Amino acid sequence: MRLWGDYHTHTSYSHGRGTVADMVLAAKARGLKEVAITDHGPGHLFGVGIAHLGLVGRIKEEAKLWEDRTGIRVLVGLEANVVDLDGRLDVDDRTIAQLDILIAGLHSWVRPGNWSSLWHFYVKVPIARRLGSCKVRELNTQALINAAFRHPVAFITHPGLHMDIDTYELATACHKCGTALEINTSHNHTTLEYIRVAASTGVDFVISSDAHHPRRVGDFAKGVELAAGAGLSPERILNTRPSWEGKRP
Ligand SMILES: [Zn+2]
Ligand SMILES: [Zn+2]
Repeated sequence: MRLWGDYHTHTSYSHGRGTVADMVLAAKARGLKEVAITDHGPGHLFGVGIAHLGLVGRIKEEAKLWEDRTGIRVLVGLEANVVDLDGRLDVDDRTIAQLDILIAGLHSWVRPGNWSSLWHFYVKVPIARRLGSCKVRELNTQALINAAFRHPVAFITHPGLHMDIDTYELATACHKCGTALEINTSHNHTTLEYIRVAASTGVDFVISSDAHHPRRVGDFAKGVELAAGAGLSPERILNTRPSWEGKRP
């Protein structure tokens, strides 16, 4: 299986280790045709997210420069944080409209959008992590579904990482609205079961490195192995196409 683009990478504008140039040069060295720079949204606390949305313009300028120098297509996006249970993101619509790709997921240590999400993400989710809770799983899942219907989300990043979700429910909804699900090779949480259950709904997938360092750009091996193990056909994986054909803002 040949994958042509890595659509989830971070630079030093958020908490990655490489510059835009480093990531694009690494993508070229890997033989990719496309790479997306998708730094964390500004709601991510403790310096993990980009400092402010005004930086998107600067990232776009650098991306254009390195696209011209290398011949690799560079998409500029963000990995937005879902900040409340209604699926709002830490990125405004005006900024989303400037992006080539928007990806979104649930993360810990994000500035909550309101009191009920503060209670949910900072009290109920940590308790549920120890004791389990169907209600918390249902609300996490619904927050992601709401985000996918509310915004032009290309794919949901690392579903189920640190926050329990109902894969079948999420995948069914994402299939309906044309949002893909990620097979993330950065965290060791993706299982064959997750891929099989999600695939049964007809949803598409994206395999991504979630690289926080240039040496990991295009590191798809683990995801390709999992996809093959789950019997997923290459047509269901969007980065087998030579350019991004999934949802765009
Ligand atoms: Zn993430
Ligand atoms: Zn990421």
